[in-house]
Amino acid sequence: MRFSPWHFISRILALVCGLALAAAAHAMPQQALVELAEQMQPAVIEQLGELVRIESGSRQPAGLAQMADVLEARLQALGMQVERHQATAGVGADILVATIHGSGSARIMLQGYMDTVYGPGILDEQPYKVDGNRIQGPGSADDKGGLALMLGALHMARATNWSDFDTVTVLVNPDHEVGSPGSRDLIADLASRHDVVLSFEPGAVGADAASHTLLLGAAGVGNARLEVTGQAAHAGDAPSEGRNALYELAQQLLATRDIATQVDGASLQWTVAQTDGNPSGQVPASAHAVADVRITEAGADKALAAALKTQVQGGQMVPGTEVSVKLDMLRPLYQATNESRALAEKAQAIYRELDLKLTLVPMARIGTDAAFSAQSGQAAVVAGLGLAGAGYHAHDEYADADSIVPRLYLTMRLLQEIGAGR
Ligand SMILES: [Zn+2]
Repeated sequence: MRFSPWHFISRILALVCGLALAAAAHAMPQQALVELAEQMQPAVIEQLGELVRIESGSRQPAGLAQMADVLEARLQALGMQVERHQATAGVGADILVATIHGSGSARIMLQGYMDTVYGPGILDEQPYKVDGNRIQGPGSADDKGGLALMLGALHMARATNWSDFDTVTVLVNPDHEVGSPGSRDLIADLASRHDVVLSFEPGAVGADAASHTLLLGAAGVGNARLEVTGQAAHAGDAPSEGRNALYELAQQLLATRDIATQVDGASLQWTVAQTDGNPSGQVPASAHAVADVRITEAGADKALAAALKTQVQGGQMVPGTEVSVKLDMLRPLYQATNESRALAEKAQAIYRELDLKLTLVPMARIGTDAAFSAQSGQAAVVAGLGLAGAGYHAHDEYADADSIVPRLYLTMRLLQEIGAGR
């Protein structure tokens, strides 16, 4: 049995805790929080290493169970009550929900996810490694860095005896990278019963790794599906008796490839096309294609679906075939509300206390579970609080260790401000 990484700094924390308590009658000197964050950094890195060394792809139930066990133990050690809810879809891994009560009135939810996009064996190719400020390994930034950071911030909250909240809830889901099908309802429901949600997902993809960001928006993600039905026939002997579904599909794809340019806030890219199981000697009787769709303005999904339908129905080219198209949104669009924006601006002001710049990204083209948290409109959401990093979903993923102290400080100061503001 390994020691918890937090074990080694418990003595330091006890000392700092005394210091913080002495100052608690006045506003907390921010220098003490900076020093506490600096003292926490090695434990955050060690915790991150422990999580990265567990392979937890979205379709690896054993690894996800191991992640849940480790996180449950860590959350319990923080005095939290931990429940497990089986995800309602996917491989049926557990969603962790941990709760603790304080003496204030704010209801705050912290969220992150434990799964990665990688498949079994990834640690052989891409082992955990710390190289200078780069903490490397699968999921190091997306989103295990966010989880290690969240645990570090909760340790800081405890070390400073912060209790200015009614409830702090931690939610960690196991299916983010496959669209959160088995956790989205629980995320939305739980978030609707909180005042503020802090999402520890990573920041914008493509941002300079050393730059610090929060997200004010994230694209809705969907799939368009085009289906063609024709008629089978002998491909060599009697092709004219068939209705070639593949020819119709191919023409429809070309006819609709630029359709999203007619719709503000939508993009579409056909990415999959195939016939449905016919041998090569047969004129195909059915074929389908799938497009990746991104939505950056409310209502653009409906406008795009309508434009697709109009084009497809009016533009049939192979007589006797039938064509249908539909658009399904897998993740809703996330757009910060005024209250969310105000919190993000507060975060910028907190960064200025450290002489650092925090960039608010208006719209990122990544999927965020914060979109589900924002759905009811009940909670103000701050998205993208995870560690800075790069190489998400690639083979050179890393989290930037230099972002740990600013992110710990930011989280703790945000918690203080949210608690005091309620
Ligand atoms: Zn990801």
